[in-house]
Amino acid sequence: MTPVRIRTVGFVGTGIMGAPICEHLLDAGYRLYVNNRTREKAERLVERGAIWCDTPADAAREADVTFTMVGYPTDVEDVYLGKNGILSAARKGSWMVDLTTSSPELARELHDAAEVMDKHAVDCPVTGGQSGAEAGTLTLMLGCDEMSAAPLADVLATFSSKVYHFGRAGQGQVAKLCNQVSFASCIVGYADALALAKQSGLDADQVIDMICDGMGGSVAMERLAPKSAEGDFRPGFFAEFLRKDLALALRDAEERDLTLPGAECAFNLYDVLCQIGGSRLGGQALTLLYEDEATGVAAGLDWSLLEPDAADPHDVAHAGHAHGHECGCGHDHGHDHECGCGHHHEEA
Ligand code: NAP
Repeated sequence: MTPVRIRTVGFVGTGIMGAPICEHLLDAGYRLYVNNRTREKAERLVERGAIWCDTPADAAREADVTFTMVGYPTDVEDVYLGKNGILSAARKGSWMVDLTTSSPELARELHDAAEVMDKHAVDCPVTGGQSGAEAGTLTLMLGCDEMSAAPLADVLATFSSKVYHFGRAGQGQVAKLCNQVSFASCIVGYADALALAKQSGLDADQVIDMICDGMGGSVAMERLAPKSAEGDFRPGFFAEFLRKDLALALRDAEERDLTLPGAECAFNLYDVLCQIGGSRLGGQALTLLYEDEATGVAAGLDWSLLEPDAADPHDVAHAGHAHGHECGCGHDHGHDHECGCGHHHEEA
């Protein structure tokens, strides 16, 4: 089949990351069809010339490539395989590119299902955050090789500055989970450092500057620790998404008989933060767990919501939740449900 020349783009999920990516696609002159669960978040794009579609399928029908940038693996499943899903609506020979941080296993399933239908589905999670999306400098992690992705090169270049090819379906997602595991431990590291500094009467800004000059620093510390220190907990990325990513990573690691102690520790802390009302705060709000209760309450947390036992990450990622609480998928569940990793779980 002749490779598709990309002129028309569908986009599902115009949230914090998706909307600025769409702006770059419009700037580059692509004809853009957009869909989002909440229509208002696409209004600005429609004012700029994007075409609103009532369903993901409508966004994909005319498109040479359809991007998806939704929240959870369960959202990805809905958007691809649901009643108005893109997998059956997309044209033969066209591409579906999932930018969501999602399950590697689901990425492989979607890839295989698409190939059978003479379509292409590839995982392509991103890193660089809201600022990278706005600047068009995201780093992309493709679950395919460079030659197969060649038709996508120009359209991907409109919102990225670096593209890594990880060879085969699902491997882009695994690479992204590696990033998240490292990122989360960096946040825990700076949260520990700030707590010790504060308790010892050191000036937080001075300590941050000093650490960033040396081996203890990280990009997470450089960009997020000043926000934590100032009490700015607005989200560039939601705490609940980092919790989801850690659950996905722990599940993947468990399948490989691998223990990730840093990720387990970070997962437990993010799980507590989400349980007490911090799901939609920025990931830098982890430092609130080290503060006195009044500071947490002022930021919107409620410690009385904490379950007696913190969730076991393997329960969340693999075996189900022992208690009916907010899990990675953002809904309140009983004992038998779909969790953040996008698979159905029975009670452990
Ligand atoms: P977000 O602001 O919540 O955006 C997700 C969007 O997807 C929302 O607008 C949501 O609609 C929409 N959506 C969800 N399910 C849908 C469905 N079934 N049909 C149509 N639209 C649907 O989140 P985000 O920060 O952009 O993150 C998106 C993904 O990228 C997540 O997987 C996250 O982990 C990952 N990520 C985020 C960052 C970051 O810094 N923010 C960086 C890298 C990767 P509503 O408007 O109704 O909620």
